[in-house]
Amino acid sequence: QKKIEKGLVGFFNQTLIEKYNRELMLKKKLDEAIRNNSLELYYQPIFDARTNEVVSFEALCRWQLNGEFISPDEFIVIAEQHGLIQALGNWVLKRACEDSASLSQAYPNAAIGINVSVIQFQNDEFVDLIEKVLAETGVGSSKIHLELTESVFATDKGALLKRIERVRDMGIKVSIDDFGTGYSSLSVIQDIGVDVIKIDRAFINNIFKNGSAIIGAVVHMSQSMGQGVVAEGVETQEQADKLIANGIYHHQGFLYNKPVPLSELLKQNC
Ligand code: C2E
Ligand code: CA
Ligand code: CA
Ligand code: CA
Repeated sequence: QKKIEKGLVGFFNQTLIEKYNRELMLKKKLDEAIRNNSLELYYQPIFDARTNEVVSFEALCRWQLNGEFISPDEFIVIAEQHGLIQALGNWVLKRACEDSASLSQAYPNAAIGINVSVIQFQNDEFVDLIEKVLAETGVGSSKIHLELTESVFATDKGALLKRIERVRDMGIKVSIDDFGTGYSSLSVIQDIGVDVIKIDRAFINNIFKNGSAIIGAVVHMSQSMGQGVVAEGVETQEQADKLIANGIYHHQGFLYNKPVPLSELLKQNC
């Protein structure tokens, strides 16, 4: 009995230690990658399914370590937990604004959606930086959107509302990302005044099952509030058709396009 327990404890400790070591290694390497300017920014178009035109792009951070892509789902969390998310987020903002000029030539009406971590959005410094970067790059405020997840609303609602208001007063649209997965209710969204609701991929994936209920609710609310709606993770024509039947026309997903580097986007002309 004793022996088995010891063996199990040893086993679990071993995997915990491995996990911990990987995290420390990634943290160190990510810090270097940010400093060496070796992160990349990919772009995924969002289409209007009625016209097949690109309405906007989402900027998605990419990191290759020894020739292998590390998933943002892993490295963004590490960046958030180890104090690197500000530096990473600032880099993303600057790169997106720099890229905006080339993108605008090929797609004059399309803006770039930038993912913003809750931690980045916790003080006014980030909004100050946006102002500064827009001025430096000469990019118009209508050319970028901010994508905030619902977890933003878990804390500090008053200050947050002011910050969102400030961003929107600057002419920058705000999207709620991964809608339906987080804390916010439809009523919170009504208070805040956001421009676009991005319905999480999970509901699109389940659109022929229980996903259709939330989709119906979002359509109903957005129509009365004048918000835009984007469906994330559209993978099949059946899903696209069902969304169109529900009055959701802005689609993002592998059915249309994967995220690609700027150079490829300028070549392929979606
Ligand atoms: P997200 O903001 O929800 O981004 C959409 C994710 O869905 C992207 O994953 C994209 O590649 C993926 N995707 C798009 N279409 C489809 C589809 O049809 N099917 C499937 N299965 N997936 C699809 P990615 O690039 O791996 O990013 C994962 C998450 O990492 C993002 O989720 C976002 O939360 C975070 N992230 C990525 N870049 C940044 C960044 O620059 N800053 C911050 N703060 N977070 C970022
Ligand atoms: Ca997003
Ligand atoms: Ca999302
Ligand atoms: Ca997500």
